[in-house]
Amino acid sequence: MTDETYDALVIGAGFAGLTAARDLATSGKRVLVVEARDRIGGRTWYRRFADTELSIEMGGNWIDPAGNAALMAEVDRYGVELSTSPQAENHVSLLDGVLSHAACPISRDDELDLRRFVEETRTQVERIDPTLPLDTQDVADLDVPLDAYIDGFGLSVTLTELMGAWIRQETGCHLSQISALHLMSWIPLLDNDVLAIGHTPTHRFASGTIDLLQRMLDDSGAEIRLSAPVASVTQTGEHVEVRTKEGEVLRGRAAVVAVPLNCLGDIEFEPALSPEKTAAAAIGQSGAAKKLWALVTGLPPKILGIGEHDAPIDVFFTDYPVEETGLGGDLVVGFSTQERPLDILDRVEVEAAFRLYVPEAGVLKVDGYDWLADPYSKGTWCAAPAGLLSTYASALERTEGRLVFAGSDVAHAFRGWIEGAVATGGVAATRLSAILDEG
Ligand SMILES: Cc1cc2nc3c(=O)[nH]c(=O)nc-3n(C[C@H](O)[C@H](O)[C@H](O)COP(=O)(O)OP(=O)(O)OC[C@H]3O[C@@H](n4cnc5c(N)ncnc54)[C@H](O)[C@@H]3O)c2cc1C
Repeated sequence: MTDETYDALVIGAGFAGLTAARDLATSGKRVLVVEARDRIGGRTWYRRFADTELSIEMGGNWIDPAGNAALMAEVDRYGVELSTSPQAENHVSLLDGVLSHAACPISRDDELDLRRFVEETRTQVERIDPTLPLDTQDVADLDVPLDAYIDGFGLSVTLTELMGAWIRQETGCHLSQISALHLMSWIPLLDNDVLAIGHTPTHRFASGTIDLLQRMLDDSGAEIRLSAPVASVTQTGEHVEVRTKEGEVLRGRAAVVAVPLNCLGDIEFEPALSPEKTAAAAIGQSGAAKKLWALVTGLPPKILGIGEHDAPIDVFFTDYPVEETGLGGDLVVGFSTQERPLDILDRVEVEAAFRLYVPEAGVLKVDGYDWLADPYSKGTWCAAPAGLLSTYASALERTEGRLVFAGSDVAHAFRGWIEGAVATGGVAATRLSAILDEG
């Protein structure tokens, strides 16, 4: 064991862990961040596209400056530059077998049904306070699979497919695997705009998420151990001892646990975590998106495409037009989910997928990352399955002895977003400081 005793150990160097580490270290605490991977950033990763000079986000990407208050405070604090993805100028959709180039590919009857869906959903959403744990509110009847909620409206196939594609792009999973309540909890944070669920924010970090993350780490002055996966966490009276898989033991007066929910069960806790937190970790979250990047020729400029449930790609759009890439094609980002067999790293398969929408499309290069197979994420952004939040929302983020918990997966507001990670990181730092003050 090292002789050092840190005030705080922070397990996980994603946005949540680094926010907590920065807040603690800048308030005078001795902090050590312990990170499994050989890089910081967790489920955000800004790196080169294929073997080119252009860098893109493999994970978390877009932010909502209007709603993401905690994150924007960091952006402003460090003067981080943002840029925007281009607005779509061309549209293509493949819904109920029909290829269309209309910006709004639904009938007048569908529009009326959509309005009915929006109004009814807004009424239900009024019952939700997104700043409080959902298990403390009378909303369990909304904690049902999202496809069951939508089916209750008796919408046409075309409208169901359109909504399904947009929602899958926002949830990263089949609609049976996410709770309607989880998605609804975002709506009060999006100005009560139900349709905002289908609008990916367009702002992104001009020099990548790493720009902000690195500034936070540098500013903190916290020590960091990379490539140090934590195997066990033991609370012993006044201390927390963290043992890495390599057998090193690190000691702190308290710790922030900021690992993904789907990885929590891989760490052995002594004493064991509460039965509720253990049960929630065993259920886990369902986010399992396939985010693909493709360098594509032959597409109409600045295109937005939407596909039905058995098309290989749900939604795709031009993120860097050919004049920006300098690579002879548009750099297009697309989203799919695990149940469809598309191999996002197979150029031929991806080209065939784009040709369903635009027969002239040619794919020069592809790239993407398998977050589901990565042992330190085991999924993409948080999609809570039905039943999780109305039962365990409080337990997920509850302090246990000298351990405080942070992360986008346990956030009440903006669960699943970078914003949720940053906000919980700040709260965790405050809670840990209170533990230290108590002695
Ligand atoms: C493909 C994709 C697209 C996304 N798009 C967006 C988007 O556009 N906008 C948005 O706001 N959000 C998006 N997200 C979600 C967002 O990236 C995450 O919600 C957020 O980054 C999570 O931060 P976190 O700190 O809570 O967790 P993480 O970033 O997952 O950090 C947890 C850290 O814990 C480490 N860890 C795990 N196990 C151990 C262990 N045993 N020991 C030590 N360390 C461990 C991990 O390596 C990781 O660094 C996306 C995510 C993905 C994957």
